[in-house]
Amino acid sequence: MVPEFTNEPFADYQAQPNRQAMEAALREVQGEFGRRQWPLTIGGKHVTTDRWIDSVNPCQKSQVVGQAAQAGTDEAQQALDAAWAAFGEWSTWQPAERARLLFKAAALLRRRKHLFSATMVYEAGKTWPEADGDTAEAIDFLEYYGREAVRLAAPRVLPRLAGEDNELVYKPLGVGVVIPPWNFPLAITAGMTAAAIVMGNTAILKPASLTPIVAARFVALLEEAGLPPGVVNFLPGSGGEIGDYLVAHPKTRFISFTGSREVGTHINSLAAQVQPGQRWLKRVVAEMGGKDAIIVDDTADLDAAAEGITTSAYGFQGQKCSAASRAIVLEPVYQDMLGLVASRAEALRQGPAEDPSSQIAAVIDENQFNKIMGYVELGQREGRLVVGGEPDGAQGWYIQPTVFADVPEDGRLAQEEIFGPLLSVIRARDYAHALDIANNTEYGLTGGVYSRDRRHLEQARAAFQVGNLYLNRKITGAMVGAQPFGGFNMSGTDSKAGGPDYLPLFVEAKVIVERF
Ligand code: NDP
Repeated sequence: MVPEFTNEPFADYQAQPNRQAMEAALREVQGEFGRRQWPLTIGGKHVTTDRWIDSVNPCQKSQVVGQAAQAGTDEAQQALDAAWAAFGEWSTWQPAERARLLFKAAALLRRRKHLFSATMVYEAGKTWPEADGDTAEAIDFLEYYGREAVRLAAPRVLPRLAGEDNELVYKPLGVGVVIPPWNFPLAITAGMTAAAIVMGNTAILKPASLTPIVAARFVALLEEAGLPPGVVNFLPGSGGEIGDYLVAHPKTRFISFTGSREVGTHINSLAAQVQPGQRWLKRVVAEMGGKDAIIVDDTADLDAAAEGITTSAYGFQGQKCSAASRAIVLEPVYQDMLGLVASRAEALRQGPAEDPSSQIAAVIDENQFNKIMGYVELGQREGRLVVGGEPDGAQGWYIQPTVFADVPEDGRLAQEEIFGPLLSVIRARDYAHALDIANNTEYGLTGGVYSRDRRHLEQARAAFQVGNLYLNRKITGAMVGAQPFGGFNMSGTDSKAGGPDYLPLFVEAKVIVERF
């Protein structure tokens, strides 16, 4: 009997044993710098190519955390063949058997959680608690989807018609391509992969090119848990090169993508074009960006709001799809609120992610650094710089936590996803105006309201157009099981990862009727 799902507790790094375990894990990952190479995995075979992807520490760009072999289209074709070859056998495993494999992987991951977290400290620039949160979420996905697969396998009772027996069963789709982003390089990678395979599909996992090492470790862990060859084929490589090849391929049955709006919409349209020899319409699950807002009204607890806004805006340097990038504040409390947020932003300790006292570290790479600094420049024309805005690209890609005030609601700063430590504060005349501003973007991922006015909270429940709405709390950190996650509009297909509606996206239902 499998016990009920509970979320993995976060590590308390004030406790000495956890701290020491994390320090040891950081040393272990450091010991691999510039030395460890990770192959592709195709049909259970570990394959190298003559091209390598360097994974670089964003906080110390001279450090190469590891190298991953880079696949081209030949390897992509081989991976598709291997995945289809494995599908026949894997699809006959009982859901409970596939679930047990996920539980085994979760147990292994729990045992080595600090090693995985340490890998993300160096590879993604995650502070200790952010990295630990990512690892805990990966464990949660494995545990939760295992239980969900078993739940969905229970026979569905259909109404009986005279003389006929009716049955509905779920069948796996086939081979899917799993394409995660770099910002939750373990949790989202593990979640999307586990969901696809636990329902009996086989997969090609193309990790984000900026974070292939933690993904490689995860695939090695699945192998150790007993995953048969070919069920997950690990294929680091360029999105434009093998991503497009795999998405367009007639043998690809579904695509599970999380990433930017730009790439998500491209994948959606490419997948919609039926190729010669293709025998199905591809299913696309695409979770994309956000322009998430927190509204503060004139009845709110301003200290709580400032705390929630700061945590949501600057956690992991603002590089979460759920990050608050707009604070929409009602006129009467605007100045007070701005002051409270600015002083909290200014007080954040910025430094290398490996230093446990750092609260905010470097952004992921030079491209993002330049893109964010472009918005810092623009912000000085569109709004008023209140704190931050200074870059330091000498050792790593550091940008100070930045607050812009008086940002116009229709300006680019208030409309475009920036994905960095930059908050735009926008003035609202009244609550209805605040809701209008909040809804006036093409995205609809997360949103929040701080208020003590019950009518305002109820209005937000009805009218704030986001997939995940938070009232009187921060807008990041959705918990698997309790808070299924996914956005509206250009934020994606609202797949609600970590919830009861997610796994049915990876199967098709077959109804069998027998006349007795
Ligand atoms: P990208 O869209 O740039 O990349 C995501 C993945 O797509 C990567 O693996 C990338 O590969 C791949 N890719 C790129 N081009 C193609 C292509 N033509 N065909 C197939 N695959 C391709 O996003 P980021 O990695 O920069 O992630 C940040 C984005 O993700 C933000 O917009 C954020 O909001 C969003 N996100 C959304 C979440 C949600 O649940 N809604 C959760 C987390 C992030 P490569 O690395 O090789 O380019």
